[in-house]
Amino acid sequence: MPNQPISIFWFRRDLRLEDNVGLVAALQSGLPVLPVFIFDPHILDKLPGNDARVTFIHSRLLVVQAQLEALGSSLQVLHKTPKAAFKELMENKPIKAVFTNRDYEPYAIQRDKAIEHFLTKNQVTFHSFKDQVIFEQQEIVKNDGSPYVVYTAFKNKWLASLSPELHLKSSDTNSYASNFFKTTAHPLPTLGALGFLEATIKVPDATVTPEVIANYEATRNFPGIKQGTSRLGAHLRFGTVSIRELVMKARESSNKTFLSELIWREFFMQILWHFPHTVNTAFKSKYDRITWRNNEAEFVKWCEGQTGYALVDAGMRELNATGFMHNRVRMLVASFLCKHLLIDWRWGEAYFAERLLDYDQAANVGNWQWAAGSGVDAAPYFRIFNPMTQVEKFDKQKKYINRWVPEFQEFTYTPMMVDHKLARQRCLQVYKVGLAQ
Ligand code: FAD
Repeated sequence: MPNQPISIFWFRRDLRLEDNVGLVAALQSGLPVLPVFIFDPHILDKLPGNDARVTFIHSRLLVVQAQLEALGSSLQVLHKTPKAAFKELMENKPIKAVFTNRDYEPYAIQRDKAIEHFLTKNQVTFHSFKDQVIFEQQEIVKNDGSPYVVYTAFKNKWLASLSPELHLKSSDTNSYASNFFKTTAHPLPTLGALGFLEATIKVPDATVTPEVIANYEATRNFPGIKQGTSRLGAHLRFGTVSIRELVMKARESSNKTFLSELIWREFFMQILWHFPHTVNTAFKSKYDRITWRNNEAEFVKWCEGQTGYALVDAGMRELNATGFMHNRVRMLVASFLCKHLLIDWRWGEAYFAERLLDYDQAANVGNWQWAAGSGVDAAPYFRIFNPMTQVEKFDKQKKYINRWVPEFQEFTYTPMMVDHKLARQRCLQVYKVGLAQ
């Protein structure tokens, strides 16, 4: 029936059929649902041709496509600006409504506003849902309505507000699966047609066992342990796992540290939502007065893992080789860049954004500002990680260092690019002057 009115479900950071709030709302709305994904040139054009995240997204779309084909439906994938994509869809089918899950990054908010305006003008309704977080926007705020800027207070309110029946309820796609729009399969554009090559770096599978969660507190700080953390970052970023399912697993465990990390994720998301300017300016504005040295040759050494500090180098090499870096080491390399080298945190943030498979603007900006001392609830600027002590504490047997810096030998390794003591004093002086202005 070519003139049958339909609804669209627009996939973005929620690449799964299961427990997908917006998708189930669309399927329940009465009209057949055509699922759509748009490769947006505004995002793709900034990425290198072998970007591993594009390969991952593409592989997940193939999975979703196979699931939809089994239901007699299909995913329609377009490679255009969202506005041009909806224009094309509306020219070909009588579309009555568009359903989607909310995305809280500044670009996404602006894009969605423009799309909603465009659709409404064309008598198409736009419906957005909370899916990628347990609490969003204004849901966890102080009693006076202002946002929390201290993690522990946010976490306590988050935990006190959680009603499992309400917030962790799974959306049942199967019961409404007959409401997908019936069509022959639309072939997906190949990676080549999108201008990309298949990347060699792959996202690990989303398998987090109860043991990983139960042991998390004991293992999470040691980068030498292979599965000491969940490795779910990229799956959370692209919605290939449901946050509700994960929070349920975390609550079932006797150890609650893993749940606290999932709350850090929401903490930084709400910070970005309330303070979008923090994408490129300091949360504490006086930190924008620091005179960074920004030495380009030193930045290259840091990027390449050639600083002479073995744990810093191991972290950067892990990032470059796999698209992942252990959290403990992320904290150290970020501190080293901002404090030992006095390079602007925005340079580091941008490098991570280019490389991390789990890159998430809220988490990346929030953590980089934490490391620089300029963010919410940040480490005080005078607390400067000592890269040697960090090895003693977290990689004493040098398992992680030996994995990523095989040539490491205590006395013959690349000379340290800065002396720790001198760099520390220089940092304290520069921060002090900047903050006093
Ligand atoms: P686990 O330790 O198993 O934690 C589970 C999940 O909790 C993570 O996947 C993540 O979604 C969330 N989480 C854990 N710690 C944090 C945190 N500190 N802030 C926000 N969420 C957290 N995380 C990102 O998801 N994307 C980023 O771009 C990112 N950039 C970072 C930059 C710096 C400088 C630092 C210090 C940390 C950054 N993190 C980022 C946080 C953290 O390092 C990663 O979430 C974590 O290492 C991912 O590994 P995992 O999935 O095994 O995490």
